[in-house]
Amino acid sequence: MRTLVWFRGKDLRVADHVPLLEAAQAGETIPLFVLDPYFFAPERARSLPHRIQFLLDSLVELAASIAKLGSKLLVVAGKSADVVPHVAKAYAVERVVAHRWSEPVGRERDRRVAAALDVPFDLYEGETLAAPGQVMTGAGTPFSVFGPFARAFAKAVTIDGPKRAPRSLSPLPPVPRGIHPVTIPDLADLGLARNPRLVEGGEAASRKRLAKFLRGPAARYETGRDEMGEAGTSRISQDIKFGTLSARTIWTRAHAALDHHPKAARAYLNELVWRELAYHVLFHTPRVLTEPFRPSWKGFPWRKDAKAWKAWQEGMTGYPVVDASARQLLTEGFVHNRARMISASFLTKHLLLDFRGGEAHYLEWLTDGDWASNDLGWQWATGCGVDAQPWFRVFNPVLQGNKLDADGAYVRRWVPELAKMPDRWIHQPWAAPPRVLAEAGVQLGTTYPAPIVDHAYARKRFLAAADGHLGSASKRG
Ligand SMILES: Cc1cc2nc3c(=O)[nH]c(=O)nc-3n(C[C@H](O)[C@H](O)[C@H](O)COP(=O)(O)OP(=O)(O)OC[C@H]3O[C@@H](n4cnc5c(N)ncnc54)[C@H](O)[C@@H]3O)c2cc1C
Repeated sequence: MRTLVWFRGKDLRVADHVPLLEAAQAGETIPLFVLDPYFFAPERARSLPHRIQFLLDSLVELAASIAKLGSKLLVVAGKSADVVPHVAKAYAVERVVAHRWSEPVGRERDRRVAAALDVPFDLYEGETLAAPGQVMTGAGTPFSVFGPFARAFAKAVTIDGPKRAPRSLSPLPPVPRGIHPVTIPDLADLGLARNPRLVEGGEAASRKRLAKFLRGPAARYETGRDEMGEAGTSRISQDIKFGTLSARTIWTRAHAALDHHPKAARAYLNELVWRELAYHVLFHTPRVLTEPFRPSWKGFPWRKDAKAWKAWQEGMTGYPVVDASARQLLTEGFVHNRARMISASFLTKHLLLDFRGGEAHYLEWLTDGDWASNDLGWQWATGCGVDAQPWFRVFNPVLQGNKLDADGAYVRRWVPELAKMPDRWIHQPWAAPPRVLAEAGVQLGTTYPAPIVDHAYARKRFLAAADGHLGSASKRG
């Protein structure tokens, strides 16, 4: 049997790629990647620089891995709904296989491709550990609270070990007339300069990252994960997003490696279940991409304040931990989870700016920028989402910093103008005695901004706005 194996941007690997393995076992394979001219246009690429770099590097490695197995990755430019049926017909394949995407845009694309194909189009699970719709309440409705979801997930989902890569692939038959393969563009073709501070793309680097974490910080993950200045987390979010590692590879490896560290295992695997919940919510409630999950938040009186928005984006709010997170995002396409929470809370509650602006900004700059997890995170921090923290909880960036970046390592790394501040004042330089500021070379308002807004005032302003808008809903908390 001849099978077209369609790789998309979420399964850029050869190990534990079941559609590829089964197609290889069944006969000839035609491995295909479609370069969508919208996504790979220079203007669009420039707005997603980190994701594009990781994706292109991973794609180059995928092509090399496929070549090592004896075939060739066919790269064709165009819209998937045109290219896939065209290539399928030209190669006279009997079947097209790919991994399922649960995001609305992917589902619509797959519907169109299926409609245009005259051979079967089989979608394999693997984007998440649970298939969409597999975990439901007893009443058959979707979950919106983590605890019950996690318990139902544990009952409903069996996670098998990952499958190996195919031992070999059939050589790619000659390219038929009418098909015009292209080379994988490099960053310069898209008007982008390489960012050396990004994590390395590709399957091999992803595997190394996971192994390094499991050998080291994983054993104390339950506490280390919250320390912003430490490398206490796995840093595999972009790998799972682009599929350079499969979700079940991560799950099974972590499960085995943390056998003797039950607290760490529970905490780490729980985070992977949060990702499952994010996909579950997006699958069942796609409207969350444009509106709050909780209807009572619709029409919330967000402010418009271009100056505050710019200060938040550029890391110039005068709140060191918030600024560190903004600069980390722009510089290395990553933000520590705790810093994401503080920063999102600051934008929405201290500045009273719409979470959707922050969400879009994160999606542009994060290498792991992912519709499902990003939306869940933003709506959680705002208080309008699934199993959100109570809306009236307003993170105090100073207390958060003092507790989870006690020696200021995170702030010193990303806000170097405060590097010489003593630990005691690093999270609130405005409160430091003039002598301390002078010794640290800090001139507030000149070398580093004074706080853009007073914490107590901002908290009161947010609570009044929320109370006014949410009315009786807010009283119920
Ligand atoms: C405002 C905000 C925005 C976020 N945006 C994204 C995003 O665009 N993409 C993204 O992958 N994650 C997002 N997260 C979740 C989380 O911050 C990142 O997954 C995590 O920081 C990635 O680092 P890590 O791989 O070292 O995580 P680890 O702590 O090592 O966790 C392991 C894996 O579990 C998953 N995970 C962990 N926490 C969460 C979570 N809260 N929700 C969903 N999955 C989780 C991720 O796949 C992560 O790689 C966001 C969180 C917030 C608060």
